[in-house]
Amino acid sequence: MRWLALYLAIPVLAATYDVTPPAVRQGETMRLHGTGPVTAARLNGRTVKLFHQPSGEWLGLMPVGAEDLPGVYEIQFLAEDGSVEHTAGVTLQSANFPKQNITISNEIASIKPSPGEMETVGEFRKTVTDERYWTDAPFALPLPGCYTSPFGVRRYYNGKPTGDYHGGIDQRAMKGYPVRAVESGVVRIVQKFALHGGTVAVDHGQGVESIYLHLGDFGTTEGARVKRGDVIGYAGSTGRSTAPHLHWSLYVNGVPVNPLQWVSLKACAAPRPASGKRKPHQAQPGKS
Ligand SMILES: [Zn+2]
Repeated sequence: MRWLALYLAIPVLAATYDVTPPAVRQGETMRLHGTGPVTAARLNGRTVKLFHQPSGEWLGLMPVGAEDLPGVYEIQFLAEDGSVEHTAGVTLQSANFPKQNITISNEIASIKPSPGEMETVGEFRKTVTDERYWTDAPFALPLPGCYTSPFGVRRYYNGKPTGDYHGGIDQRAMKGYPVRAVESGVVRIVQKFALHGGTVAVDHGQGVESIYLHLGDFGTTEGARVKRGDVIGYAGSTGRSTAPHLHWSLYVNGVPVNPLQWVSLKACAAPRPASGKRKPHQAQPGKS
């Protein structure tokens, strides 16, 4: 009988793995859990780290890029030696991101990055650190209110495609309005850049990062530890920007993801034409 009891216990002890949600749209993030020792996961050529949590489980975040192709794919959970411990099917759906035209002056369109600007931001994006400062609750908003430009829209400047999409969210802001960290973390960038303008970047750990652009002034320093909701800067219109606003982005393992999966924020109501006649849709200034 003892032999039988041991045999029955084995399935209970087997490692379990899960992917939530198993179907996502472009720009969304999947949470990967495993009880077995799995230190990485791979989807469609992208590999992310899984981290050992205090609960004993392994947790990682798999981002889906705004331009990843919809379809049915397999996620592989990998052991430290690279062997595949488990596979799970996932579905990537199109987010049907719309186009957005922005009217900007040649002067603003021709702004070039500062020396080292793109490298500094790129290096920040691809750095993944081991300590986790973020929690599962929704993140805080950097500014109250609503958003004027969503994540993922295909950007056109003066009718010409930029070949790029909007990697974050824009919120209108009065100049000097405090901008707050969406989550706790370590401040990695506090810089006045030509293109991004006044920039603060925060590492929330284990692959989650946020960046805040076009700031008029700073409220923190590089290397500082910040808590969720701490003021890290003040809204402005620096860099490639036509009116005071905040652009902020979330990165998951280096990939810009849709912040609307992480915070509760609504679109601003479209301005009503004063004459009662509908004007053709035109992008508002202050986007970047
Ligand atoms: Zn923006």
